[in-house]
Amino acid sequence: MDAKHKKWICEFCEKEMETRKGWQLHLNAKHLTVECRKCKKRFASKSDLKIHVKDEHTPRCNVCKIELRERDRISHMRDVHFMCPCGIQCTSKEELYEHIDQTHNKVKVYTTEEEPLKTVKKYSLEPEYL
Ligand SMILES: [Zn+2]
Ligand SMILES: [Zn+2]
Ligand SMILES: [Zn+2]
Ligand SMILES: [Zn+2]
Repeated sequence: MDAKHKKWICEFCEKEMETRKGWQLHLNAKHLTVECRKCKKRFASKSDLKIHVKDEHTPRCNVCKIELRERDRISHMRDVHFMCPCGIQCTSKEELYEHIDQTHNKVKVYTTEEEPLKTVKKYSLEPEYL
């Protein structure tokens, strides 16, 4: 009896399929037509995708976990956590600036448009950093 239940049933239209592969193909072709561009997961609707993107792909600060927009990240890490993109965490802004001055001045300088530091070159946080 139980052998009969080995069939793969589509949860959307209740069509039965013999194999997992056939079931997956059916889902992808008929129901899961929206694909997440970041991780290639598939969803049945744009709203499902939206929820997924919000849960899985919203950039967050790895220290305090708040949501961060891409352009706020540098200033957040610098001003709230005194953290340099190289991974060094300082205890104050002064200490951070001193670290930058001593360590990165010759190479790159940590800065933003509004608040340029002494020697100005762009130093941006890579997404992998957070
Ligand atoms: Zn189906
Ligand atoms: Zn995704
Ligand atoms: Zn934070
Ligand atoms: Zn540094």
